[in-house]
Amino acid sequence: MTSPAVSSPNPQPVSRARTLSKSDFILARDCPAKLYFRENGYPDTRQGDAYLAMLADGGYMVEALAKARYPDGIQLDYGRDVTRDFARTRAALEAPNVTLFEATLLVGRRQARVDILEKRGNVLRVIEIKAKSFDGTEHARQLAQNRSGEFLTTRRPYRVDANWDKKIADLTYQIVLLEHLMPGCVIQPVLALVDKSKATGLDNVPGYFQLVRRPAADGSLRLHTARFIGSADDLAQLDLVTEVDVAREVAIMHDQVAEAALIFESRLDAPLETHSDGVELGSHCRDCEFRTPGQPRNGFAECWGDLAGVKPHVLELYSVGTAKAPGASRMIPWMLDRHSASLLEAPVDELIQKDHNPGGTAARQRRQIEYTRLGVPFVGPELRRKIETLDGPLHFIDFETSRLALPYHRGMRPYGLVTFQWSAHTARALGGPLEHREWLNNVEIWPNQSFAESLRAAIGDEGPVLTWSHFEESTLKQIVADLAHFGRDVPDLVHWMTDVFERRIVDLHDWARCDYYHPGMGGRTSIKVVLDALWRSDAIMRRQFLEWSGLTEAPADDPYTALPPVEIDGKPERVHEGTGAMQAYQRMMYGEHKGDAVIRDRWATLLKQYCRLDTLSMVLILEHWRRAAGLA
Ligand code: SF4
Repeated sequence: MTSPAVSSPNPQPVSRARTLSKSDFILARDCPAKLYFRENGYPDTRQGDAYLAMLADGGYMVEALAKARYPDGIQLDYGRDVTRDFARTRAALEAPNVTLFEATLLVGRRQARVDILEKRGNVLRVIEIKAKSFDGTEHARQLAQNRSGEFLTTRRPYRVDANWDKKIADLTYQIVLLEHLMPGCVIQPVLALVDKSKATGLDNVPGYFQLVRRPAADGSLRLHTARFIGSADDLAQLDLVTEVDVAREVAIMHDQVAEAALIFESRLDAPLETHSDGVELGSHCRDCEFRTPGQPRNGFAECWGDLAGVKPHVLELYSVGTAKAPGASRMIPWMLDRHSASLLEAPVDELIQKDHNPGGTAARQRRQIEYTRLGVPFVGPELRRKIETLDGPLHFIDFETSRLALPYHRGMRPYGLVTFQWSAHTARALGGPLEHREWLNNVEIWPNQSFAESLRAAIGDEGPVLTWSHFEESTLKQIVADLAHFGRDVPDLVHWMTDVFERRIVDLHDWARCDYYHPGMGGRTSIKVVLDALWRSDAIMRRQFLEWSGLTEAPADDPYTALPPVEIDGKPERVHEGTGAMQAYQRMMYGEHKGDAVIRDRWATLLKQYCRLDTLSMVLILEHWRRAAGLA
């Protein structure tokens, strides 16, 4: 077992006693060493994560909806003084019957805030609200048949399903604390979840919530809370959250959680060596949130010691978690035993499929190592043939969509698909001049049918439809299912979409995985990574980009960051990736300035320039491949 190197533990002084919160506990279960970095204020890549911020918005609305069912609930104030917050909770619990929001529990240095704590005599219901979805109808059906339900594995002895492990552990942690504080009470654990077997009866759902943001230390506005501001009738129409008894699941986890919580509590002030006891370094470290190269304090560097900065690093290997070493052992621990983290020293001969065929993922891994050593691109023998099969008008398409916990349009289910934008570049023949078309929804109705109809009008019935991933294919399939759900009788449109996803789509991402490699790609194959890898060395690509976009041809630039910001309400706004597009769309349609035509227009400009670049990037990459394969 290879433990963290603990090269330079250097805890920062903390101004107050550390406590083990629910999120600390869940983080420590993920990797105990992370608790040290969290408690000592190390930089964390999840801070400022746009996707997490968007989930937080959805999560607050779900929380507000769940709490709105308890009109007598008392919202307890809370802050940095946990002892004072706990005293308030204790005082409030003196009442025989009371419902509290954000009650504080404190046992030793273990603490938790309870979303909803309902007390009726000596019966306490602990309700944890999660924006995660489940199928309430299916769960009830399974329980009625004496089966395990949605949260447990299907075979006996039942365990908590991995998909629900963190959620149940979080609630169990609260139950363990409450048992200490309220001995003799009956405690009922409940999850309040978004129920995908239900549908909303309202349009413009965000309009029923008031989001309260407060300035953060860095000057940005952070979401603080949300409030449901609709009527009782509206609440009944927005019946999307189901409370479900999880006593059985909590009982399964109880002892394990209670024991782990005591261990983590005892380590709160300990050095990294103590937190790291028994921790194994491995492929999971690749995405560690404390991997912050370039920052003065980098948790990953303290765990990996002198192997943290090796280049090219073995953690950059494509699908590194699947890579094997001699004896079918896992690759990363095997290499660490030899004090190596260099991709170039990875045991290439062990990279074969289970059936001893050196294809698939193993082939991609071997190619990465081999061509990184050589320092030249790989152009597979099939690439030329595949390009030559592209006949007729070539349509490069890209979709922008969102799935939100609380859907925005009447009749939709939680996390239902909203297709709000597409971009299409069309070349009448390989290497021919480009035409660009686009569509962006701007009306507050379910947009998926208009999305498909406008796309059909743009790309018609002929020619391959080029995409970068299976996303466009699965989106069209989902729209077909949604049209049936909404009772739309549009057989021609369904027939056209079916033809596109069954016959016309060509996934260029598959080509990037199987038929091409550039050392600048490392283990990644996203369109941005591939474009970036080619950009510096391909002057023709840069010239084409300048000609088609008018933006830049400088080798040091990156086409995505070259997209100009758009000033909106006095602030320069940018969209560089899909999550940013989702947020921009929400702000355009449902933000505080949604009635201002000028501001809406600026959000639209921002969204269009981003989506247009995604399809232009595909054109640029295919043009590069044509040159690399000797076809241009
Ligand atoms: S680098 Fe690895 S061992 Fe260290 S905290 Fe991150 S995940 Fe845990």
